[in-house]
Amino acid sequence: MTVETSPSPGLDIHFDGVVHLYPSQEGDVVALRGVDLDVEAGEEFALLGPSGSGKSTVLALLAGLQRPSAGQILIGPYEMSKLSNRQLLRLRATEVSLVLQDPSRNLLPYATASQNIEFAQRGARGRKHRPPWRPAELLEQLGMGALAGRTVATLSGGEQQRVAIASGVASAPRLLLVDEPTSQLDTRSRDQVIELLHKINRQLGSTVVSVTHDQAVAHAMPRTVTIRDGRVGAEGRKGEEYAVVGRDGSVQLPPDVLEILPPGTLLHVRRHAAGVDLRNPELERHDQ
Ligand code: ADP
Repeated sequence: MTVETSPSPGLDIHFDGVVHLYPSQEGDVVALRGVDLDVEAGEEFALLGPSGSGKSTVLALLAGLQRPSAGQILIGPYEMSKLSNRQLLRLRATEVSLVLQDPSRNLLPYATASQNIEFAQRGARGRKHRPPWRPAELLEQLGMGALAGRTVATLSGGEQQRVAIASGVASAPRLLLVDEPTSQLDTRSRDQVIELLHKINRQLGSTVVSVTHDQAVAHAMPRTVTIRDGRVGAEGRKGEEYAVVGRDGSVQLPPDVLEILPPGTLLHVRRHAAGVDLRNPELERHDQ
């Protein structure tokens, strides 16, 4: 696959104290209770966490499908809560691409795989950084070259999922958001999808966010962000797990760590010339 255009810069992301409520008849459901998150332009990361923790809400906020109830979201130069509905639509048509988990929600069922990808590329017309890939190349990369002329409605769920991802990548978005991109795929197709996500990130510089339960996707990403109970619960970098200090000073610990350090545990704050570490007194006693 050749790249003919210069890389289109990715969008950086800043969440500051983001709260999101869904109103319901029994009272508001608090989906996010103060998410702080900083992502550099051109980062690629997986958003992890148990069901109901708030991952899809983060994705919907990033795509401008929802507006935060409180807090600030900056995506590149855009302050999301200040954009009109029209501006949000335009952003999604041009710079931000969202691939929903249910492929049929992303695709035109009576058009062919190839036509769906061409349609997705229309948003990028007239842009300085145009998509460097032809539909046939994208489908080939996902092992679907032979199915380019098939109507989407006649494809299997896994095939539709791959067409949806190819369509999401096709417009060379500055921010690509994918929800469970491998949920219907076998190992080989899964690896091809991971490769395509890496490719748009590395060749074009797009920021790529994948919500996933798939450990293979999580391991393939240089960074993981875990959402737990509506907050950023932990971060992973190159396979190492980190707890995150929120802007309000609170530290979210993974549940298995909480079993060892239950609420109320005192951690010893030790200052050094090079910084600070928090020590579990039990371990300190053990070391002595
Ligand atoms: P995840 O993607 O991690 O499964 P979600 O972001 O979908 O989590 O949901 C977070 C919380 O918000 C859950 O408690 C869920 O039940 C609730 N929620 C999500 N969407 C709605 C909605 N449209 N109306 C009411 N509650 C919702």
